Amino acid sequence: MKNYKRKFKKLTLKLVNLAEYGFLVEPCYYFYGWSKMKSCFARSSVAKKLLLAKKYLPKGCNFKIWDGFRTRNTQRLMRMSFKKRLESLHPDWDSKKILDALNVFTGLPNKKVTLKGHFTGRALDLTIVNESGEELEMGTDFDDITEKAALNYFEKKKSLNWREKNVKKNRRLLKGAMKKSGFKPYPPEWWHWFYGK
Ligand SMILES: [Zn+2]
Repeated sequence: MKNYKRKFKKLTLKLVNLAEYGFLVEPCYYFYGWSKMKSCFARSSVAKKLLLAKKYLPKGCNFKIWDGFRTRNTQRLMRMSFKKRLESLHPDWDSKKILDALNVFTGLPNKKVTLKGHFTGRALDLTIVNESGEELEMGTDFDDITEKAALNYFEKKKSLNWREKNVKKNRRLLKGAMKKSGFKPYPPEWWHWFYGK
């Protein structure tokens, strides 16, 4: 535990406030009462890569960030809430199926392999906003827990309506900008991107 605390302190020293880099921040988990952080934070290397990604967006567009660095306590509160949502969405699912879905959308707070970068300040949950600060249509809300949240969902879907075609285009824009700047996706969630190991 001591070791963890030391590591945590060392890491927090490396974090930067993403609002200071000119990105829009909307710290959702602070608003939900799951986090004490009033802004979104990440490693400076991640913030710099996101500045690069912004150059690939159309003029006037920006990134809106919902979450970056996250504590284990926030993760624990998220997981409890997601479990309730899954249970009410799928009353017919047994506990194994609920747990499997839960593990796709929220990592375990105490397991290294499922960190996906939020605990180390390497991951961001974000979208694109236009020059008026409005979010581009991405097909689902942030933290949607359905198959539609998958980054390539609309690439695979046949016969898209005009609205879905627009979503596909917007997701491609996000994907292109992030990938060209060195970020990697988490395929089940279009909003989650990480940089580094
Ligand atoms: Zn995420």
